[in-house]
Amino acid sequence: MTRRHVTLLGATGSIGDSTLDVIARHPDRYVVTALAAHRNSDKLAALCRQFRPAYAAMLDVAAARALERELAGGPTRVLAGPDALAHVAALPEVDTVLAAIVGAAGLAPTLAAARAGKRILLANKEALVIGGGLFMAAVDEGGATLLPIDSEHNAVFQCLPAGYARDPRGAGIRRLLLTASGGPFRTRPLDELDAATPDQACAHPNWTMGRKISVDSATMMNKGLEVIEAHWLFGAPREAIEVVVHPQSVIHSLVEYVDGSVLAQLGHPDMRTPIAQALAFPGRVESGVARLELATLAALTFEAPDVARFPCLALAYAALERGGVAPAAMNAANEVAVAAFLAGRARFTDIARTCAETLERMPLPAMTSLDDALAADAHARRVACAVLRVPVDAPFIPLAA
Ligand code: NAD
Ligand code: MG
Repeated sequence: MTRRHVTLLGATGSIGDSTLDVIARHPDRYVVTALAAHRNSDKLAALCRQFRPAYAAMLDVAAARALERELAGGPTRVLAGPDALAHVAALPEVDTVLAAIVGAAGLAPTLAAARAGKRILLANKEALVIGGGLFMAAVDEGGATLLPIDSEHNAVFQCLPAGYARDPRGAGIRRLLLTASGGPFRTRPLDELDAATPDQACAHPNWTMGRKISVDSATMMNKGLEVIEAHWLFGAPREAIEVVVHPQSVIHSLVEYVDGSVLAQLGHPDMRTPIAQALAFPGRVESGVARLELATLAALTFEAPDVARFPCLALAYAALERGGVAPAAMNAANEVAVAAFLAGRARFTDIARTCAETLERMPLPAMTSLDDALAADAHARRVACAVLRVPVDAPFIPLAA
């Protein structure tokens, strides 16, 4: 069997952990060729000692120097800076790139993988929200393959007919139903949301994830970003993508066909399942996830999303409808607001307000090139900082696309 050679972007994060757990179970199938991360050199050094990749790339130059000292004499070549991330995403000896950097910062290396024709396992939904149709065009032109590992999109992917070609009508599909857990604040009294703390917002009832996506789950911006992600991945119009709240997170999403069939994918809420599915596609490998014992599940329940509680969901639908750079601008405003909230510089309810005000305050032209998306991302970050009254260069403000 020829082994797959993998670059893992975002190796030190939550998706990075899950991915390396699956890969470590199958040394006969997967080789880690490159690991990339932002600045946690201690963790990356430990991973390099375990997986012995040919390359390690860090965005932060000082962290890369520290890593180089740690790994001196070993098999791993250490690279630094944004170009290094794009470089390891496009290495000729790599066939699979796992895109698991959080936020807009993941766009450039993921695009490099697309242009180099890699098989991309996409966790970094923000890259697709920003790049939209232009990102998909880069995937097609580069001859790349995009496999979703966001659990909802992976579930939809598994429920689609083989060879599905981004044409829901042609495939007899009526609706894509994305499930949402409702997050930690699904039943919290609305007047208490103002006082919600970062730790409360990150205490997700079902999933353990990085802090940014955990806050996005609490506001449901995560589901909004996923609606946009589904639009581009599956070619589905806005009207054909629905969100249903399913607090148990056992059904990961569903596809409804015109004959009345509704196909669902079920499993424990553990990212190792979608990661293993995409790594092995079209085959299957063991992922380490416990078996789902249906008889022990008390109940699976469903409800419509509460629009007053989760204004970010409607904002995302509106941004998708508006088109052009609107999704990129909304995403950037959200990244800034979430970072400010996590840094104790904004209230939980400021997140939705900042996104809405940013979209109102800035021009939202059509998107004719990725430069338009990058300009909107940068502009939205400045506007969002002004809305929140935080300095644009504050250390907690995340990096732009
Ligand atoms: P995380 O915060 O745990 O990890 C983020 C990773 O990205 C780290 O390795 C970090 O070093 C790296 N990173 C951050 N900023 C960077 C930058 N500027 N340049 C280079 N690297 C940078 O996040 P996570 O929970 O693993 O999520 C990663 C992505 O996967 C996000 O886009 C998220 O929406 C998506 N996702 C996560 C989950 C999950 O269960 N965690 C599920 C679905 C989708
Ligand atoms: Mg998801």
